[in-house]
Amino acid sequence: MLLARQGLSVLLVDRDRHGADTLSTLALMRAGVLQLHRWGLLDRVRGAGTPAIKSTSFIYGDETITLPIKPRDGVDALYAPRRTLLDALLADEASDSGADVVYGPRLIDLERASDGRVVGAVIEERGGARRHVRADIVIGADGLRSTVAQLVEAAIYREGRHACGVVYTFWPGLEDDRSRWYYRSGVSAGAIPTNNGDALVFAAVPQVRFHGEIQSDMEAGYRKVLTECAPELAGEVAEKMPSERFRGFPGQPGLMRRSHGPGWALVGDAGYFKDPITAHGISDALRDAELLARAVGRGSDRALADYESTRDVLSRELFDITDTIAGFGWDLDRLKPLHLNLSKTMNQEVEALLGLDAQPK
Ligand SMILES: Cc1cc2nc3c(=O)[nH]c(=O)nc-3n(C[C@H](O)[C@H](O)[C@H](O)COP(=O)(O)OP(=O)(O)OC[C@H]3O[C@@H](n4cnc5c(N)ncnc54)[C@H](O)[C@@H]3O)c2cc1C
Repeated sequence: MLLARQGLSVLLVDRDRHGADTLSTLALMRAGVLQLHRWGLLDRVRGAGTPAIKSTSFIYGDETITLPIKPRDGVDALYAPRRTLLDALLADEASDSGADVVYGPRLIDLERASDGRVVGAVIEERGGARRHVRADIVIGADGLRSTVAQLVEAAIYREGRHACGVVYTFWPGLEDDRSRWYYRSGVSAGAIPTNNGDALVFAAVPQVRFHGEIQSDMEAGYRKVLTECAPELAGEVAEKMPSERFRGFPGQPGLMRRSHGPGWALVGDAGYFKDPITAHGISDALRDAELLARAVGRGSDRALADYESTRDVLSRELFDITDTIAGFGWDLDRLKPLHLNLSKTMNQEVEALLGLDAQPK
């Protein structure tokens, strides 16, 4: 979308279908909402009935701290749009901005010049036919298991030590429709209001416990962890039928990959993944999409290197805090300052994004 808005010729290929869902607990942080606002898309997220989250409660054991979301810089509230809505909206806007958006085929290989520079991609249609596409730059926005990252052998230079397992589903009409995040020793849970009157309710545990207790029977494991971490939330859903099936993520330690090279770049989870416990992957992907689009607009390998270093400067602290929280080695007194530091780094990120408006595109 951002590249097409710059007037570049863009082919966007996604192997899935338009409006497909993905594993995610959906919460956008302020930086993510700010990006949607800056790009002129927030009204459409609101217009689709996505509930405005005006405050968030952090529930540490038996203590509740409720923080209002201060309206500022065009962000009136936080939002947690369904990915079926958000991803489709971004792709449609890319198409309306002039990008050629194609669903179904997948990228299977890269074309290279004799000096190794990436000069295009090989796209395979569902039926097996192959198309060779020339391009000045190939961007892997293809997620954690990025094919582009594998093909360019992008080195991993930062790795997390911890991973948590997450199981979630959607519940209609909860009595308490606020955004709530619960923490007790070794467990976390939350309720996040989303579209269609549903709340996404998740339970998170250390990866080893996910494998041992949850994977084989996700509903039973989910209810057990909810009861342990957030008894009132467990009570709210005890007699209800979920709107959708239970979905589980067994965990994956965070990583940062080299995200640029001659003729290629990585963005989103493809280049930088962190544990979902701090719910920041979408916001970061939206941030980095803009940093990368600006670098591509500048048109030099140096600009791509700057993209990666800016991303890393903005991400390192959040990455480390996320990894620590995902390790579940904290008690509640240690967790609160981690959350305060997280909030500080998120504010810095927002300031950095606002600062982009003062720079040439
Ligand atoms: C359990 C869980 C909970 C999460 N909760 C949150 C949260 O609350 N808040 C938050 O901000 N983040 C959350 N995240 C993280 C967030 O979902 C990701 O950071 C985000 O989806 C990254 O977006 P992306 O576009 O980089 O990758 P993806 O969303 O993975 O998209 C990659 C796209 O590439 C396509 N693709 C892949 N390979 C190919 C190929 N070879 N050819 C063509 N197309 C291809 C796929 O079809 C897909 O559409 C969570 C993640 C998990 C696992």
